[in-house]
Amino acid sequence: MKAAVFHGPGDLRVEPHAEPTIERADEVIVEVEACGICGTDLQILNVPPGHPATPGVILGHEFIGRAVTIGPSVRDLRVGQRVVVDPDPKCGTCHACRTGRPANCTNVVALGSFADGALARFAKAPASSVYPIAETLAPPVAALIEPLACVVNGTNRAVPRPGESAVVFGAGTIGCLFTALLVAAGASPVIVVEPSDKRRRVAAAVGAHHVLSPDDFARRRAELLPLGAEILIDAVGTQFATAIDHAALGARIVLFGQNANALPAIKQYTITERSLSILGSYITTYTFPTAIRLVEQGKLPLAAIVSRVIGLDDIAEGLALLRSGDATKVVITP
Ligand SMILES: [Zn+2]
Ligand SMILES: [Zn+2]
Repeated sequence: MKAAVFHGPGDLRVEPHAEPTIERADEVIVEVEACGICGTDLQILNVPPGHPATPGVILGHEFIGRAVTIGPSVRDLRVGQRVVVDPDPKCGTCHACRTGRPANCTNVVALGSFADGALARFAKAPASSVYPIAETLAPPVAALIEPLACVVNGTNRAVPRPGESAVVFGAGTIGCLFTALLVAAGASPVIVVEPSDKRRRVAAAVGAHHVLSPDDFARRRAELLPLGAEILIDAVGTQFATAIDHAALGARIVLFGQNANALPAIKQYTITERSLSILGSYITTYTFPTAIRLVEQGKLPLAAIVSRVIGLDDIAEGLALLRSGDATKVVITP
């Protein structure tokens, strides 16, 4: 089969690759229908890399498809079933798994960075990571289930209540998913802060009540939210200090975006004095079923997030579109 293989920093090649085979009784082989390109993929391919990966692996971790071969011990799945895959298979037996924190499973071998992913015709996953989905979903939208499962986790951390105000920093895929979910949860107003004009348009399309550049937000925040925001989402990874500046009394700040180099100067006193809650949110915590249900119900305006759907041979073009900021989500149909 043809696959997009990571060969080292900055080196991704679409080339022939052996098809996966069942090696353990609990494995499932999925024929991939659609696989999103994620910011993490760009980080893996950056020089120097912003995220580690094993040279030789097939990239791609936001995918859906059809179970075509299932191992002899797999129950609850049938050949031909349409599925989404959690690309971070949990072991179920480590301390993190046994204390209800599967996101931090110490035995995860992530598909698409440390094991073969889904930028190929076929991908393999343990059955415990495979979830059935409806036949009716459009493939590019269904490929958003994985990032949405992460965003459901982050939204749950904030416990939004109807009528609370929210500010989302960043309108990439993650910021737009947070926006759609917070609006659906009854938050109002939901304000998105994003420097790129193209991305601001997508944030508006997914339901943001106000979409502002960082400068306009700084200028207009006191008028739009005189008391500050009750929920603040950093979907970028560098906006912690800014979020504190605009937090209402008792606000919850969700730190979702990841940037290992961000070392913001924080006025700790403000967190104490304003009784703020600082909530880290890392990948998923039993949130795939909720994300699947949300997408199946069609209640979130997700189609606007998908900028382009392209074939595997055009992946270089898709990566360039994402790097330029001209695309929000690019989906590959291998
Ligand atoms: Zn991703
Ligand atoms: Zn574990």
